Amino acid sequence: MDTARELSDRLATLLRREHGALAEFLVALADFDARRAWAELGYASLFHYLHRELRLSKGSAQYRKVAAELIQAVPAVVEPLRDGRLCFTTIIEVARVVNPVNWQEVLPRFYGLSRHEAAEVVAALQPHPAPPVRTVLTAIPRPPPGSTVELTIPAVTPGSTVELVLPRGTSGSTVEPVPVAPPSRIAELTPLTATLQRLHVTVSERFARKLERLRDLRPDLSDDALLEAAVDLLLARAEKRKSGHSDRPLATARPSRDPDHVPAHVRREVWERDGGRCTFLLPSGEPCGSTHQLELDHVVPRACGGASTVENLRIRCRGHNLEEARRVFGDQLMDAYAGRRCGGSA
Ligand SMILES: [Zn+2]
Repeated sequence: MDTARELSDRLATLLRREHGALAEFLVALADFDARRAWAELGYASLFHYLHRELRLSKGSAQYRKVAAELIQAVPAVVEPLRDGRLCFTTIIEVARVVNPVNWQEVLPRFYGLSRHEAAEVVAALQPHPAPPVRTVLTAIPRPPPGSTVELTIPAVTPGSTVELVLPRGTSGSTVEPVPVAPPSRIAELTPLTATLQRLHVTVSERFARKLERLRDLRPDLSDDALLEAAVDLLLARAEKRKSGHSDRPLATARPSRDPDHVPAHVRREVWERDGGRCTFLLPSGEPCGSTHQLELDHVVPRACGGASTVENLRIRCRGHNLEEARRVFGDQLMDAYAGRRCGGSA
């Protein structure tokens, strides 16, 4: 029977191997990325490759993509990852602040930290310009009519998961004008159950007032139902535009003089034929299927005389459209044109 000490020694050995294997994987991945080998295999980005070819979850793929990019910029991060001083779960925080100029000073500050502690280091190094104070608006009874309360919150229906975050200086009862950070599209979604998520989003006082008006007009709807209906309206309009549908009757639409213009009925037909998804075929033979950053791509490029017809157009995600352009026009021209792109989620 092994003693506890022997078992512990065995665990320590396995852990060293785990760190070593991870470091080795990341170094190889950084090299793979530097060569853009993912593009050669038909992927739109390194993230896309990790997620689709290596079957990593989106979260795991994102961590490894960030690590591979950081290793290319700051190769010195490899050793602390290998010997375990730097925890892999802190890599996204590390990548926010460590760069080729400051790594000697900044990198050691992350040694031995958890992800949460690493986020605190980043916050200390890069303080938020106007940190929002989180006010969770929950079931508060409506004030009597004529009350001076400016921002009133109706009862939240059971299952409603909207959490409004107001800028500093605001509370549930009064609203004061306060400078706020520039608008950000980053809203935090926290999964609560299989079917419910909580949305944390910083809103302006203007938004809060509009929401309040909407609540008065539709007292039958919960906050999440109101927001979903608003999103549905915008989504329908945006999808209509993307697919070439227009509220304007076709007969009144004037032909464009722009040679790059694709007529609405052509966009619509291509969109419907391709199912509103990227049609690029992956090495596995499956289509990419991404619905992210879709573009119309000319099979025979416009620069080579390709026409904007249904037959000569197809839907591609931006990553695959760009890869196709690289294939046709060459890396040098595309680098000069667009700079190197590193894909996020594809
Ligand atoms: Zn694609």
